[in-house]
Amino acid sequence: MSDCIFCKIANGEIPSRTIYEDDLFRVILDLGPAARGHALILPKEHYGNIYELPEDKTARAFTLAKRMAERMTDKLGCDGFNIVQNNGETAGQTVFHFHIHLIPRYSNDGQKIGWNPGKPSEEELDETARILGED
Ligand code: AMP
Ligand code: ZN
Repeated sequence: MSDCIFCKIANGEIPSRTIYEDDLFRVILDLGPAARGHALILPKEHYGNIYELPEDKTARAFTLAKRMAERMTDKLGCDGFNIVQNNGETAGQTVFHFHIHLIPRYSNDGQKIGWNPGKPSEEELDETARILGED
């Protein structure tokens, strides 16, 4: 993808603050961090979202997310950690190259990452579980 900014960053064509790199991924600091140390895992190959990412690379990406969370927590002394991954505009994706957000959290960081809880009826929950549980 010649016009994808994350392709260029992941492959080193555009400089970034890289905190980890291997054969498949580059991990960079987010330029608009939710909190100190907010980083992004970028695959070096272009995949638009999790639906396009092959399963073996998905496994590698999320294993890396766990390892980065451990390492970043050790180094930053954060109090908590969010791992966020958006797919599609409706879900808040703004850069259409798969990425995982690694967000260290601090007790006083003033951020809110969450949702407004709904109040579905028992019937609605039953119906949703039925649909999702079917093959
Ligand atoms: P999302 O909304 O999940 O697509 O996240 C995109 C993220 O990329 C945002 O947190 C941006 O701050 C971040 N971002 C956009 N451009 C750059 C860039 N050139 N370098 C680092 N982070 C970026
Ligand atoms: Zn790309």
